Amino acid sequence: MVTRLPTPPQLDGWNHLYSGKVRDLYVPADGSDAHLLVVASNRVSAFDHVLEPPIPGKGALLTELSNWWFARIDVPNHLAGADSGAPPVPAEVADRATVTRRLEMFPVECVVRGALTGSGFAEYRRTGAVCGIELPAGLEDGDLLDAPIYTPAYKAPLGEHDENITFERSVELVGEEVATALRDTSLRIFAAARELAAQRGVVLADTKFEFGRDPRAAAPGPAGLVLADEVLTSDSSRYWDAAAYADTALPRAERLASFDKQIVRDWLSAHWDRSGEPPALPAEIVSQTRARYAELLERLTAA
Ligand code: ATP
Ligand code: MG
Repeated sequence: MVTRLPTPPQLDGWNHLYSGKVRDLYVPADGSDAHLLVVASNRVSAFDHVLEPPIPGKGALLTELSNWWFARIDVPNHLAGADSGAPPVPAEVADRATVTRRLEMFPVECVVRGALTGSGFAEYRRTGAVCGIELPAGLEDGDLLDAPIYTPAYKAPLGEHDENITFERSVELVGEEVATALRDTSLRIFAAARELAAQRGVVLADTKFEFGRDPRAAAPGPAGLVLADEVLTSDSSRYWDAAAYADTALPRAERLASFDKQIVRDWLSAHWDRSGEPPALPAEIVSQTRARYAELLERLTAA
């Protein structure tokens, strides 16, 4: 698969390092390697393609949401403080850039599911289990699980698909102490976040965390874990409206309408056979998607 990404902007004081489908990473131009500038673009990806046009404001909305969660999660995180010594954030990306400590990332995507849906539900239907965790028979798409489950994925190198793995496989990848800390920390953050979201009328169905280790840290957290990447955003998580979810008279698709790019996925599924390049998104799909991202931020962060 070839994804053509737009040339990332040149930023004063920073050199471009790498662009993922959604974010552009920069390192300090002075050659220091302790920090990273993570710039969330307005790009939206679905089915492994970056789509056109971008969603105006998406990068800023997701950055604000991620920062809001970082401030509420009781785990060391990658945000570099104002006095970190990193170059200043360039004004043109100020609302969607994050200065972080540059970490050594663990190659495990820490997925937690409080509900069974998406790829987890697909795997359950085939095998009765998700990532080696056996689940009771008869569960349906969107059912809440008795207790959230940790279903890690191997973070594949650039261009390859991430792959669901068992906990035992994650132990082989990062060792028992780190694998256990990744699982327990992820489940703990998820439980607290789910409760906070519920107070605001939102169901946190599932999410993905990424952690790294700071090779320069003097006082690391448990097993040296530092929470990194984006947290609990609508790109990394599935959120449902609690009232719609509870209304079992509604069609399933409406109960499980998530605060993310589901609108984009649904439109693409109806208008594209997944061969060749995807068609451009119509203006109303772009504006509906933007509104959906904005609504989640508003719902969660309103005092
Ligand atoms: P894609 O989303 O295109 O499949 P990706 O997830 O690698 O690829 P992005 O999410 O756009 O791309 O880019 C963010 C990258 O930065 C990820 O590889 C993530 O693991 C990494 N990252 C996030 N925080 C840090 C950090 N503090 N230190 C080092 N790397 C980080
Ligand atoms: Mg990513």
